[in-house]
Amino acid sequence: QNPDRYAVIGNPISQTKSPLIHMAFAEESGQNLVYIALEGPLGQFAATVDQFRAAGGKGLNVTVPFKLDACAYATDLSEDARAAGAANALKFEGDRVYAQNFDGVGLVRDITYNLGQPLAGKRVLLLGAGGAARGAILPILREGPVQLFVANRTVDKAQQLVEALRASGAGAALQGGGYEALAGQRFDVVINATSASLSAALPPLPASAFETDGLAYDMVYGKGLTPFLRLAQQAGVRQLADGAGMLVEQAAEAFAWWRGVRPETRAMIARISAPLV
Ligand code: NDP
Repeated sequence: QNPDRYAVIGNPISQTKSPLIHMAFAEESGQNLVYIALEGPLGQFAATVDQFRAAGGKGLNVTVPFKLDACAYATDLSEDARAAGAANALKFEGDRVYAQNFDGVGLVRDITYNLGQPLAGKRVLLLGAGGAARGAILPILREGPVQLFVANRTVDKAQQLVEALRASGAGAALQGGGYEALAGQRFDVVINATSASLSAALPPLPASAFETDGLAYDMVYGKGLTPFLRLAQQAGVRQLADGAGMLVEQAAEAFAWWRGVRPETRAMIARISAPLV
């Protein structure tokens, strides 16, 4: 029997680790599939996906810049994809296109399970209000933190995001504002969901925002000790992590959704992690 076909679509895509991760998952769990990287021409997401489906494609992971297009393409959205307005995984069944956003659950699983930091009762600070931050909010809130503060450079974006989610039922734990609102506040878990680390920049947060007995988490991976993680280290934060675990955990969620088997993630996280130096 021919193997089932999956891919990750993005532009650019040469940097992706998704084929490596999914092919290893397939081997480990005995699943007959192939998983490739697909460079989608800009502005042609729907046509590229139509072609992939016509050739028998069963599912896609979606990365920058197509996560919003994936949401628009889908016929059925999960709660997290709807709340984020973005999807990072699609599943094709006949005429139906199911969309999920596993970035947030991958992040939460990495923090709570792999890093052993429960979020229940914690004060959590989320930096950024772009796609990655939006996808993380509901999965974090489901863990029951006492506070989730979303801080963004463009203050309106954080406020609008928080108001929209509160209007659709998110609890009082969710707050939003600018970085200046962080003065005098401390957080047990600080998550950098900005793209600042990609250009070695530092979001303007005060070092006093870190609780020393806490966790500083940067969603980027493979960049070593980013300016954000360095600030946390200088502030004496006990636990530092980058987004390698999040990447592998969201992949495992998609794999389980497509194939009905959840792969083991620890060995793969160790394999793709770079030291934080
Ligand atoms: P977006 O472009 O959607 O959002 C970027 C965000 O970063 C905005 O909130 C922007 O603020 C903020 N920002 C950018 N530069 C700065 C700066 N110098 N100081 C303060 N804020 C800044 O990006 P994404 O949400 O898609 O991605 C964010 C990060 O998450 C990326 O680094 C990406 O690699 C990572 N990521 C990791 C994943 C994983 O699996 N590990 C999965 C998905 C994303 P403003 O609104 O003011 O412009």
